[in-house]
Amino acid sequence: MLYESTRGQAEKVGAAEAIKQGLAPDGGLFVPEKRVTLSPEDLKAMMAMTYQEKAVFILKPFLSDFTEEEIVACVNAAYSRQKFDSEEVAPLVHLKDQLYLVELWHGPTAAFKDMALQILPHLLTLSVRKTGCNDEMVILVATSGDTGKAALEGFRDVPGTRIIVFYPDEGVSEVQKRQMITQEGSNVGVVAVVGNFDDTQSGVKAIFSNRDFSAQLAKRHFQLSSANSINWGRLVPQIVYYIAAYVKLQEQGAISPGEKINIVVPTGNFGNILAAFYARQMGLPVKRLICAANANHVLTDFMRTGIYDRRRPFFKTISPSMDILISSNLERLLYDLTDRNADRVRGWMEQLSREGWYAVDAETLSRLQEVFWSDFASDEETLAAIAANYRETGYVLDTHTAVAKWVYDRYLESTGDTAVTVIASTASPFKFSASVVKALLGEERVNGQDEFELLHLLADAFQLPIPAGLKGLEQKPILHTYRTEPSGMEDMVGRMLGVS
Ligand SMILES: *Cc1c(COP(=O)(O)O)cnc(C)c1O
Repeated sequence: MLYESTRGQAEKVGAAEAIKQGLAPDGGLFVPEKRVTLSPEDLKAMMAMTYQEKAVFILKPFLSDFTEEEIVACVNAAYSRQKFDSEEVAPLVHLKDQLYLVELWHGPTAAFKDMALQILPHLLTLSVRKTGCNDEMVILVATSGDTGKAALEGFRDVPGTRIIVFYPDEGVSEVQKRQMITQEGSNVGVVAVVGNFDDTQSGVKAIFSNRDFSAQLAKRHFQLSSANSINWGRLVPQIVYYIAAYVKLQEQGAISPGEKINIVVPTGNFGNILAAFYARQMGLPVKRLICAANANHVLTDFMRTGIYDRRRPFFKTISPSMDILISSNLERLLYDLTDRNADRVRGWMEQLSREGWYAVDAETLSRLQEVFWSDFASDEETLAAIAANYRETGYVLDTHTAVAKWVYDRYLESTGDTAVTVIASTASPFKFSASVVKALLGEERVNGQDEFELLHLLADAFQLPIPAGLKGLEQKPILHTYRTEPSGMEDMVGRMLGVS
């Protein structure tokens, strides 16, 4: 399988090269040049497989320059019982009626990013070796909160790699921040950026596109790479759990073979929902992909009007991992919806970076609307969804998953479509305890308590186990205190690597 750039001005490369490079040299994103297909027989055959076996089966055609043994080794290292606190890796939970949740937060950092970031370091170090490169890989990450910690955990002490994580100083929760600044490991760096997530992400992108800087690093045998969801190695493992969830529904008799389901995804950078789209393209029977947004609903507006416009106020919400106005992975979707029209995609993306907006043509919009449906939830609606869902089902949602639940309820109201539906549950409620406690026990219970005390309150009140990665965080020593303006990010990388 070869990979091509969505902007059409880069050479096609194999999977290993695409994963090593992260971003294509023309500024586009790598996508598989051909479709991988999944037959009803495949879906049936997978019923007898463990999560790990399903992952190998699905990854194999995408990673055709890896041997099966290599893929098995990567998968087993990533989705082990040491790393995940559930044998099933991504358990499927029946919420009520036709509605299910796939819990994607049983990994070391209690958010869905682990699903990809536990395997990416293994795929990346193998990719580097395969392409004959002996340089040290420097992973740069911009995080809205969850990616940073998951990447640090995935890459810590992996030989031949360094990792530097940038997070928006005011844009992450106290628990998220503490998880990162207490990170141990001999090859890790963590830096606060004065600004929001978009500033942070744009800063990282600017470093990647500065060829002089890359050349300077190359002389010192450093190669930059990305662990953000623009990297194909991040996206491809996410396809697995949608297919695995479908297979489980089949196993449980909740659907008959070939029956179409809906998938609801709380969306930020458009990586997670794009993986669901790819699963659908492969042949997974999916009717609608429901894109759930928060107050930063640039995607909802886009899906309704075809106009993508980031020139709007940026809101800090209680679902911070979705506080994003530039959803990078949308570029891959547009490439697909325009039948791989790189010129058009390049035009839109250039206009977005120049002017802050673009409008797609009517045909692209109508193709988009055939598959996607979107709405958004305010913070009040998110809290209300947590409370209502608990009353109805006894299940405690985190704020991101609650956004998805709220939007699904709007979908149901507006369409009456009662097809079996799976919500991607992206974080443990413990990761956002303050909001969850506020929703379920009232604001008074939150006042005067720090986020760490709230973890225990949540555990005691609802008889839920605190995820291992969040226990004892407040006692860990703070190891990272760097802080920079967005304009100083490149210097910071140079200094941390000792090249400037
Ligand atoms: C990252 C994240 C999201 C958004 O996922 P994207 O792939 O960026 O769309 C949603 N919820 C949680 C908890 C996250 O960490």
